Amino acid sequence: MALIVQKYGGTSVGTTERIVSVADKVIQAKMQGNDVVVVVSAMSGETNRLIELASEISAQPAAREMDVLVSTGEQVTIALLTMALNARGCPAISYTGSQVRILTDSMHSKARIKEIDGTRISRDLSSGRVVVVAGFQGMDGNGNITTLGRGGSDTSAVAIAAALKANECQIYTDVDGVYTTDPRVEPRARRLERITFEEMLEMASLGSKVLQIRAVEFAGKYNVPLRVLSSFTEGEGTLITYEEDGVEEARIAGIAFNRDEAKLTVLGVPDHPGAAHQILGPIGEANIEVDMIIQNVGRDGTTDFTFTVHRNDVQRAVEVLNKVANDLGAREVNSDDSIIKLSLVGVGMRSHAGIASNMFEILAKEGINIKMISTSEIKISVVIDEKYLELGVRALHDGFGLEKTA
Ligand code: ASP
Ligand code: MG
Repeated sequence: MALIVQKYGGTSVGTTERIVSVADKVIQAKMQGNDVVVVVSAMSGETNRLIELASEISAQPAAREMDVLVSTGEQVTIALLTMALNARGCPAISYTGSQVRILTDSMHSKARIKEIDGTRISRDLSSGRVVVVAGFQGMDGNGNITTLGRGGSDTSAVAIAAALKANECQIYTDVDGVYTTDPRVEPRARRLERITFEEMLEMASLGSKVLQIRAVEFAGKYNVPLRVLSSFTEGEGTLITYEEDGVEEARIAGIAFNRDEAKLTVLGVPDHPGAAHQILGPIGEANIEVDMIIQNVGRDGTTDFTFTVHRNDVQRAVEVLNKVANDLGAREVNSDDSIIKLSLVGVGMRSHAGIASNMFEILAKEGINIKMISTSEIKISVVIDEKYLELGVRALHDGFGLEKTA
């Protein structure tokens, strides 16, 4: 008999009808002989509604009280789902995060789970019940209610699965798995049967928003097999695992892209030790996160320095850089926010040379100019003009043979 943790997100429990169909899915898993723990989010839109209510009362509500407020969304869904299970003859019981002792630190609205005491859940499971736990919430050492950050129910589910040593943690959502790329950009995108934790982390941090990054990190750290599936359609979904077997040669998992970045260049920077620090130091102090960085080879005692930041930070970054350029005696500051970052991800890169040059050749054939390049062990990212997003994604998808194998 297997122990399965299932997590249902906001859209999956968005109406009472949907909650009833979730109950059917849970019962199905139980009938197959599994022990089942269910973690649920608030009904879709509910967390936003609660945040909105608070803003009508106060511009700066206490973080502690915000957590008391927003954690109520999940308390509604655990009760309703448990009622639905009971009404269908399935013994079940609901718990809030603090009732099953999901112990966190005290960082309200972005708390981290420290420990989970699984004894109460285990006892209920062995008496034949389905256990329904509120996602997104826990309590700190002083018994204060905490929440884990938006989308945090994924992390709750993974943490509970790790604590109970579950055989699998299944994340039910509105897509039926992880795709080779965004199907809205490349309709021939294919659902992956499996993907490694490393690849999934890269895909998630590069803009593929299927799972909360922290949940993937957690699952990787505790080696919890994770599966993403649809709560609306049948199917195997995508398994996220450490195992690389069954994986073809020169494996490329997919193509991720990010429309949120902008490029900044400081031209004519005096080429002396400390210049990079003089530029990026003040950017860091302004709390602006930097992604890709390039410094050109110096010529005539000066060099150009280029990096990318989030688009929302461009204006502030330019202000900081204008001042820096002045102090440094650099010539000019440029910004460009009509760029995108396109990334190829795959563990096959580790053992196969030539994937980068292959990628550059495919882009060149389409006449796409590469403005920046960065690589890591299992990823190659390029910055290109945003108008080439679709063309670039499709050319790479085709060029690396990621399309549906009919
Ligand atoms: N209800 C919370 C949110 O909307 C947590 C979650 O859905 O995972 O962010
Ligand atoms: Mg949600």
